[in-house]
Amino acid sequence: DGIDRYAVIGRPIRHTVSPLVHGLFAEQTGQAMTYEVIEGPSSSSEFAAVVRAFIVDGGKGMNVTAPFKADAFSLADEVSERAWLSGAANTLTFTADGRIHADTYDGLALCRDIEVNLGQSLAGRRLLLLGAGGAARAAIAPFVAAGPAEFVVANRTLSKAAELAELGGRLGGTVRACGYDSFDGLGSFDVVVNATSASLTGELPPVPMRSFDPAGLAYDLAYGRGLTPFLHHAQAAGVAHLADGAGMLVEQAADAFARWRGLRPRTETVIAELAAHSN
Ligand code: NDP
Repeated sequence: DGIDRYAVIGRPIRHTVSPLVHGLFAEQTGQAMTYEVIEGPSSSSEFAAVVRAFIVDGGKGMNVTAPFKADAFSLADEVSERAWLSGAANTLTFTADGRIHADTYDGLALCRDIEVNLGQSLAGRRLLLLGAGGAARAAIAPFVAAGPAEFVVANRTLSKAAELAELGGRLGGTVRACGYDSFDGLGSFDVVVNATSASLTGELPPVPMRSFDPAGLAYDLAYGRGLTPFLHHAQAAGVAHLADGAGMLVEQAADAFARWRGLRPRTETVIAELAAHSN
């Protein structure tokens, strides 16, 4: 019927709020488009076929979430430098000449939302990143570019933190890696980011309370879960600013929307509406 089609793909995908967010963006900007939910295949080898079927059906773009971000990256004909650095894509754009373009906005979105919640730039701040999975990797380049005074990556598996620290070094930053048994002597951090998936299982990454600067920000990438064990721990440590990943989700969606439609929606009201929706 000529209306441009978009979708989000993941597995499991039932609880996604992306259709709500893109629906609000479309309404706000007056764009005629549809946005659907696609449950991805149980085997990642079938991912490409599902994407290609959507293109044949008139699909113009797709948001990609776990566990397909690396598959989306591999499938693309063109990838942005950001996607290249993280080895993952969260946004696919299907061009008129039949090519698949991949980009990832997770890291940028996280960085932007942290600065909004902190009320100031990350420049000169002391930053502690917990976790070294896909979301943490995507954040390394924007974090280094933001110019923190100190940048430490801590992970349960130390070798993965070391890999991200090395990536940060190649990008011109000074990034230290540490394990959860070696926080002693590191002092406190203005911004502590939980990029582990521990919140999804109600667990707390073992970060000591003394790692939080009470005047700073504790940020959990998980969203729609209220006060996670990590945010609860930070609150008990007296941290002034607490935030979950809802803002990050909306910011990356706005970047994808801008890529697809050529205009970036305002995010503030959508973040507020999302918060109301999950309560
Ligand atoms: P990955 O599976 O790639 O990485 C998981 C990370 O968490 C690893 O570093 C792993 O450590 C660590 N981890 C898992 N369980 C524990 C635990 N019990 N204690 C300590 N560390 C643990 O996940 P992603 O990077 O894709 O996602 C991470 C989080 O970010 C999830 O909560 C996800 O929902 C959220 N997210 C939010 C987004 C948003 O827009 N708000 C976007 C993307 C992700 P190890 O290496 O030792 O296994």
